[in-house]
Amino acid sequence: MQTFAYFDSGHEFPEEIVMAAGFTPYKILGDVEAGTGAADEYLHTYFCPFARGALNQALAADDDWAGIGFAHGCDATNRHYDVWRRHLGQPFFWVNTPMKTNPTARVFHRRGLDDFRADLEKAYGVAITPEKLAAAIRQSNRIKEKMRRLAALRATRDITNPEYFEMVRTAVQEPRDRVLEYLGELEREWPARPAFPRALVPVLLTGSDVTFPGWMEVMEEAGLRVVRDDLSLGERYFHAAIPETVEPLKALVEYYALQPQPATRVPSDRRLDYLKTALWESGLNAVVSQNLKFCEPYAIDAPWIVNELKKQGIRIIHLEREYTPTLDHQALTRLETFRQLLE
Ligand code: SF4
Repeated sequence: MQTFAYFDSGHEFPEEIVMAAGFTPYKILGDVEAGTGAADEYLHTYFCPFARGALNQALAADDDWAGIGFAHGCDATNRHYDVWRRHLGQPFFWVNTPMKTNPTARVFHRRGLDDFRADLEKAYGVAITPEKLAAAIRQSNRIKEKMRRLAALRATRDITNPEYFEMVRTAVQEPRDRVLEYLGELEREWPARPAFPRALVPVLLTGSDVTFPGWMEVMEEAGLRVVRDDLSLGERYFHAAIPETVEPLKALVEYYALQPQPATRVPSDRRLDYLKTALWESGLNAVVSQNLKFCEPYAIDAPWIVNELKKQGIRIIHLEREYTPTLDHQALTRLETFRQLLE
């Protein structure tokens, strides 16, 4: 099965439409080890480095992809569109997703999904029927349900931050059957793991998406174990099930409204509400908030989120992090200090 790559910043891309067209969806995450050199020929270096890393990967690997889709996410994804379209050779598609989830936005979103479906049908000569969409939705829901159960084990079992990252990375990049097989292996292995290590402190992680395992390793090194989060490469991807009893494209619109909201969407209160609920239901009182350097949506939201959670008595640290494969010693020191304050 051919791969169809996509670039989004907040789990806006409708993977199921691509699956129904007969492709494996592949979320472009860039390669922090490869850096951003080729992309820097086209984009300013004060642009989000993750987005530059994604373009860097696309410039090297787009021949392996049947097509590339962009979903309307943050300004970095939007402003990239023209650069990518001009410099990459593969068929290119735009999926317009709304900033809100009110009734007007839902009508707009439904039209955007239908346009994308029609564009794929025309470009590849395939029929994306309601039956195929419904089958793709069922398969996605099986994956999300398994991930939900596995992620819940973080609070009670010894599941490292990089292992959790790898579970989600696999889910957004590998063929669907392989993902189900892999999650099945984890379902047999993770419940038998030793209990949550006493030496580590459980925290909730929020902010920019963590797109490489190095940052998760830094948190592990600092003695902080992520047991909840609201990231796209995390709970946002599997928190909600896609409704199966309504017309498929309408179901995808509803699903979008059920997800934990990223900082790019309004009203912002919904993001804060998810964080408060996650903390309350998990009995957690510690949060690591971070933004990738030059990631404006999360940097702008951070003072408000930090203050609101502090008002609830939550212990919280916010830091800006680098896009680098080497150990971020400054971040490690700050996180270690934070952990000591929590003990
Ligand atoms: S890290 Fe921030 S600026 Fe970069 S793609 Fe994600 S949301 Fe956009």
